[in-house]
Amino acid sequence: MLDGTNATVCERTALRINPAKTCQPIGAMYAALGIHGCMPHSHGSQGCCAYHRSHLTRHFKEPVVATTSSFTEGASVFGGLSNMTTALSNIFSIYDPEVVAVHTTCLSEVIGDDLPMMIKKNIAEGKIPEGKHVIHANTPSFVGSHVTGFSTMVKNTIKYLSDKTGETSDSVNILPGYVDPSDMRELKRIAAELGVKITMLPDTSDVLDQPQTGVYTMYPRGGTKVSEIQAMGDAIATLACGDFASKEAAEELEKKCNVPFSLIDLPIGLKGTDTFIDTLRRMAAVPVPASITLERGRLLDLISDMSQYFHGKKVALFGDPDHVVGVTQLLVEIGMIPTVVITGTPGKRFERKVAEIVSKVSPDAHIEANADIHKLHQIIKNRKVDLLMGNTYGKHVARAEGNLPFVRFGFPIMDRTGHRLFPLVGYRGAMYYLDKILDQLFDKADREVPEELFELIQ
Ligand code: SF4
Repeated sequence: MLDGTNATVCERTALRINPAKTCQPIGAMYAALGIHGCMPHSHGSQGCCAYHRSHLTRHFKEPVVATTSSFTEGASVFGGLSNMTTALSNIFSIYDPEVVAVHTTCLSEVIGDDLPMMIKKNIAEGKIPEGKHVIHANTPSFVGSHVTGFSTMVKNTIKYLSDKTGETSDSVNILPGYVDPSDMRELKRIAAELGVKITMLPDTSDVLDQPQTGVYTMYPRGGTKVSEIQAMGDAIATLACGDFASKEAAEELEKKCNVPFSLIDLPIGLKGTDTFIDTLRRMAAVPVPASITLERGRLLDLISDMSQYFHGKKVALFGDPDHVVGVTQLLVEIGMIPTVVITGTPGKRFERKVAEIVSKVSPDAHIEANADIHKLHQIIKNRKVDLLMGNTYGKHVARAEGNLPFVRFGFPIMDRTGHRLFPLVGYRGAMYYLDKILDQLFDKADREVPEELFELIQ
């Protein structure tokens, strides 16, 4: 499909070819699903909502429910207030959620719909049932990416719902970033292992990785409860994972409720996980148990067993900025050379961060934010790599480049199924991904080596 891609890189400012990102509302919808009893609501036309739901469903392989204001020509001209009012009335009477989390689309942004005014009007007119909540995030898709939409929805959830009673609790807030349910589950497991009481926002474990029970529930048992979000204002501190997905929410909680925060990279790989555990244990003033030290030791052992195969191999990777920063760090730890590193999300701080990580091993790496997969492909043609890492959209590049070894990570992965159950974060996540990377490299070698070099034992 991409066999015709040529190696001549032209400067483009107004055109994206094969974007390495998707719509803001998808991130907002995903964040809203991590609130218990929440109905995500798309304030725009039906097509956007259908696309966003199906994109999430294709990644998580779970039904994703969301409602829409169902704009037609009339709403596009006169504004969406009447659609919103009808929608809220229908949603509360038919689906009875605890929270409706409204996000905008390009259309409602372009016509300038004022969501705070609409929500206040509906509350003033008694159209929101007692004890229920309506929150909102502005998510224009012509700027930012799905990560921006996620970040804004988490920030606004705190803005609307968190509170400070004056009594500090013994709990730590964890903002996990735009990661899979398996990652959130893994971070909760590590916190439990440390004996630290936490509130995680959002939390899509037990929402988008539900067990098969044969019974459909519109609001699964997972998700952060409203009472827990309210109590986040009383926490000891906030541990925010990922500059792009979690920083704004942590800042909002500090501003609103005076909860101090530490911002770290996503806990991917040895150093990333060390930082997560060290920061959490300092916040809660607890020791690190032997079980965690043993787990770390197993990862170290695996790295020392495998590094001879990874050493000096060149890698191109793309995806969401926080993921890519973490995976770049992991690759450096195992002796690989990140050679092309891009994200579709805008932000020069991504470039600075990655440049710092690769400065010793790959000072001439191509690092670019707000870039696309077409450009990554063109650069690969000029700078041969041994491995490609990224989301599903990388498979076309891998195929066009002679079945380049390709390891999927991040969002979306639409052509595989198990990813949502296996973490990328933590020591366990690193072990799992090292195994995947080595499998890809060895599988290619096994396919291509001459018979006399075809080894049974490596
Ligand atoms: S119109 Fe905007 S919000 Fe809707 S699908 Fe397209 S880019 Fe996304």
